[in-house]
Amino acid sequence: MTAEQQDLINKGEMEDPNKGFQKYTNLNPDGEMFGAVVLATGWKPADVSQYEHLGYGKLTNVVTNAEFEKLAKNGKVPSRVAFIQSPGGKDNDKDFPYCNSVTSMVALKQANYVVEDNPADGKAYILYQHMRTPGNTELFYKGMQAKDGIFMTKAAVTKVSAAGSGLAVDVEDNLLGENLQLEVDMVVLAAGMVPTTATENVINLAYRQGPAFLDLDLFDGYADSHFICFPYETRRTGIYTCGGVRKAETMEETIDDATGAALKAIQCIESSNRGVAVHPRSGDQTYPDFFFSRCTQCKRCTEECPFGALDDDEKGTPLPNPTRCRRCGTCMGACPERIINFADYSIDMIGSMVKAVEVPDDDEDKLRILVFVCENDAYPAIDMSGMHRNKINRLVRFIPVRCLGSMNMVWIKDAMSSGFDGVLLLGCKYGDDYQCHFVKGSEIATKRMENIGETLGSLGLEPERCGTREIAISDYDKIPAILDEFVEEIIAMGPNPFKGF
Ligand code: SF4
Ligand code: SF4
Repeated sequence: MTAEQQDLINKGEMEDPNKGFQKYTNLNPDGEMFGAVVLATGWKPADVSQYEHLGYGKLTNVVTNAEFEKLAKNGKVPSRVAFIQSPGGKDNDKDFPYCNSVTSMVALKQANYVVEDNPADGKAYILYQHMRTPGNTELFYKGMQAKDGIFMTKAAVTKVSAAGSGLAVDVEDNLLGENLQLEVDMVVLAAGMVPTTATENVINLAYRQGPAFLDLDLFDGYADSHFICFPYETRRTGIYTCGGVRKAETMEETIDDATGAALKAIQCIESSNRGVAVHPRSGDQTYPDFFFSRCTQCKRCTEECPFGALDDDEKGTPLPNPTRCRRCGTCMGACPERIINFADYSIDMIGSMVKAVEVPDDDEDKLRILVFVCENDAYPAIDMSGMHRNKINRLVRFIPVRCLGSMNMVWIKDAMSSGFDGVLLLGCKYGDDYQCHFVKGSEIATKRMENIGETLGSLGLEPERCGTREIAISDYDKIPAILDEFVEEIIAMGPNPFKGF
């Protein structure tokens, strides 16, 4: 903001664009409200000592690919080398953890060192279960395949043992269908690329949820928040990842990645400075507004916020950090007191939409089913289904919501007491391969629905009248069947017994 603008604001002649944020400035005593971090702490080679039959740590000259690279740099490449890409043993088909196309290409490159440095007698054996050479790197693979002195075969390694001054590598199930023993000078194990976020706390956050990223076990230690739509973002607003800490990648890919992450960081600072959301609701000027005088300090909002945007004081009163907020509304959905609202998205607004839907009177042929739809993927999927002229069941009515995580259960109670015969939540997939733009929204909504099922049961209503379904945007053709199936279940149950009361 310029000095002139600040002067106008002080005189009351101009509205402060950051007014909403300034009420929280006590959280930023240094006056530094905005900033961004690009996390580029890289990767470490995976520990391969657990594979006892391969002899790492026990046999001299059994090394990792990273160690071999150092040897090659110092000009000490032996003439007979076996590159083991998969641990073999009992679970033949598995690769080493964190193996990927990079470790496949590293093996090809290092095999080339062996034959180039030993033109007279160099022999490199690549023993793999899966070789991954995407895109144009397939040409490199073909080039190495045709090179004299490089041998490749799919094979399971059963044992590496000392043999004279060298090593013996026993393999079975190779492409020739024979068991072989290779005599080599050195064995190179394809240790995978473990992101540093998996093994150590590389960032010391002052968040209520703790100093590190959450839930990293689920994602093999990668700190991304949505690998499909927002590849550089972590689950902490303003922190972006690139390179080996984001995914295993080549140097070339890392350069692109660093550019992408830096641009996202610039966008974050720029958007935060203007007081608007960075992503996924880019440009959104609203933020959750708390009516604190009715807060019971139950901490549900602070516990459920997927992005650590809410701290709390010693009594449990939420302390919002608007610059971390992604405007998902999960806190709004969590609050049993219904005191969290946005200027353009509120409990009352959706409640009024529920009440505005016409519910037919007590007539078995005129049931009405309400579907709350996530506006990120499910609602566009319905649009696409319509554009493909799929027939949508005439008994359903849709209300879009910001994310299923923003679903406050009062809307479902309102709907059932208004006589709706069934309520369905339609949102993104959750779990390991989640697609929720707000990480956990659809998962949280499903848990809340389990509780609402108990409430319905205590009222004498079938809990099955309320359900959740997952849909990916690309599965738009499945929407009619999903809706028809739910409607059929409701028809079988009959009308809501509270209809008309
Ligand atoms: S809107 Fe979402 S990100 Fe913002 S405070 Fe609420 S739960 Fe957290
Ligand atoms: S969920 Fe509502 S009542 Fe509970 S702490 Fe948050 S704002 Fe207060």
